[in-house]
Amino acid sequence: MEQLKCIGCGITIQVEDPKVEGYAPPASLEKEEVICQRCFRLRNYNELQPVSLSGDDFLNILNGIGERDGMIVKIVDIFDFNGSWINGLHRFVGHKDILLIGNKSDVLPKSVNRNRLINWMRAEAVKLGLKPIDVLLVSAHKGHGMEEALAAIDTIRKGKDVYVVGCTNVGKSTFINRIIKEATGVGEVITTSHFPGTTLDLVEIPLDDGKAIYDTPGIINDHQIAHHLDAKDLKAITPKKELKPKVFQLNPEQTLFIGGFARFDFIKGDRSSFTIHVSNELPIHRTKLDNADALYEKHLGDMLSPPSGESLEQLPPFVRHEYSIKKAKTDIVISGLGWITVQHPDVVIAVHAPRGVDVVLRPSLI
Ligand code: GDP
Repeated sequence: MEQLKCIGCGITIQVEDPKVEGYAPPASLEKEEVICQRCFRLRNYNELQPVSLSGDDFLNILNGIGERDGMIVKIVDIFDFNGSWINGLHRFVGHKDILLIGNKSDVLPKSVNRNRLINWMRAEAVKLGLKPIDVLLVSAHKGHGMEEALAAIDTIRKGKDVYVVGCTNVGKSTFINRIIKEATGVGEVITTSHFPGTTLDLVEIPLDDGKAIYDTPGIINDHQIAHHLDAKDLKAITPKKELKPKVFQLNPEQTLFIGGFARFDFIKGDRSSFTIHVSNELPIHRTKLDNADALYEKHLGDMLSPPSGESLEQLPPFVRHEYSIKKAKTDIVISGLGWITVQHPDVVIAVHAPRGVDVVLRPSLI
């Protein structure tokens, strides 16, 4: 059989094992140009990303950092906290001090209490095995909170090196570029769009005292919804402007579709209101619970879109998460997408989200 090569990295394409390099979904072989899944992911969401690595390679780099002295700045996307968590980071951190930074604060609605978000992030980090010295919110894009972040880094590092770590798409490049800009007045210094096969070094930004800030490659985390979408769909789910919360009054046995990415079923309880916090561009469809399966089957990709195009093939099937919610004002967080605030107590609901995407509950931030 003729060997197909990936147009991104040149690797031989295989369709058997998604965990092995060169994998492409069988359906993609019908296209004229075949791209492996890894390149598909890199190419389709990766605008400013210097280099991304899969788990093992990344852990090797972390291991290297583990042996050095310095502090760690861990960046997460506040819309994708669980999806942008680096599993296993705590094992390599040792006694290093950690500053946890939540990026993309510019899209938080005004109604969100910043301190509650910070407290939630801190508690989640501890649950996941890390105890940050401090937790801050920034918008790397707009520059909000960057001065405080730099001041905190300077205090915490105590004359040592700084290692910036984060999953892809959390805004790490934007953050680093902004640090460089503020420090030196130059524009975008870290160049972009590398493809697999590029040397995977730490990028060094020298500091006045002979120490440096090191940018590490972004890790590809399979829990990020971003990896299952093409560029267009990723744009659609990524909030760019301040979120406008949408309130829905629902009767039991009604369903809301958030595009075709997620489905929310109100199963039991009195008529209640639910507030949806997702990108303003995502259309929301209301239907009867009874009709929901058939509607999804028939209209995924047209009425229920995004996803559309290539993302349809890449999107993992839905997994159903059911919750019996006792407390009023509970958020159901769908990592990478946003959250739904359940306003009233004593309801039973279910969320359907693509496999691998984390769904967690938290007390409302409002
Ligand atoms: P990296 O993969 O972690 O290096 O992330 P990038 O810096 O390439 O950013 C990923 C995406 O998030 C891009 O679409 C950025 O425009 C967007 N982004 C980065 N920082 C911010 C921010 O502070 N606010 C918002 N709204 N978007 C951001």
